[in-house]
Amino acid sequence: EEQAQQLEAQRDDLARTTAAVQLKARELEQASQYKSDFLANMSHELRTPLNSSLILAKLLADNADENLTEEQVKFAKTIQSSGNDLLNLINDILDLSKIEAGHIEIRPETVSIDRLAKDLERVFQPIAKEKNLSFAIDIAPECPATIDTDVQRLEQVLKNLLSNAFKFTATGKVELTIRRLGNGQIALSVTDTGIGISQEQQQSVFEAFRQADGTISRKYGGTGLGLSISRELARLLGGSIRLESSEGQGSTFTIQIPETYPAAVAPREVPAAV
Ligand code: ADP
Repeated sequence: EEQAQQLEAQRDDLARTTAAVQLKARELEQASQYKSDFLANMSHELRTPLNSSLILAKLLADNADENLTEEQVKFAKTIQSSGNDLLNLINDILDLSKIEAGHIEIRPETVSIDRLAKDLERVFQPIAKEKNLSFAIDIAPECPATIDTDVQRLEQVLKNLLSNAFKFTATGKVELTIRRLGNGQIALSVTDTGIGISQEQQQSVFEAFRQADGTISRKYGGTGLGLSISRELARLLGGSIRLESSEGQGSTFTIQIPETYPAAVAPREVPAAV
């Protein structure tokens, strides 16, 4: 009899605790939604005035009627490039908060792999030339002619990986290889012969605002958001992203996505609170 009562009391306790935890979880979810909405709204409000400042700074930097001194033009160019850095940061924050709030819509369509490669070639060949690096895109013969995915988002990820590859490579080459995997998946790998990423840093570079070490941001610039956005976009496309790298030798980032956009994608991994 006594045991039965004890058991019942324990069961009541458990039920109360469960209800309290559920309430807390709902509150946290709500707070997280407010935060994402706030960031998305703020980013939008910040972009508008910044864009008009950038247009005016460009007018000055171009010095069309040649009224400005050399030094004034230099100042205008600095305003322009700092403004552009700020705009990139705002755009990254906006992207990440849209993803977190679940506001990114994936629009799959039939995408020609050749076309995608040509677009990337056009953007990155001049950058390669400027840095005196070689750049090649290799499409394996077994690849299908087209895949079904959101080409803008896929391009966004590849552009981010390629920009990083060029940014962190001083000599050698950058390569994009596209392969068909056996299981209805396509793997797109960006390989560079750059500075590489140490074993300890390989996990954290995908986290928001993380850069491999403190000196990186001073030396190379950047927001530390590109890879976390890329990882989230890869997931939204039904795929994933992974990294192989050895310090001083170079890195390979591979995004793997299904050839056909899937009906459901994996849920977002919510980082554990610290
Ligand atoms: P950002 O490049 O704006 O700093 P990312 O999220 O794109 O932000 O990258 C995070 C960090 O990962 C970089 O700061 C750099 O330390 C490291 N990283 C990314 N790509 C490479 C690469 N190809 N080679 C070496 N390090 C890299």
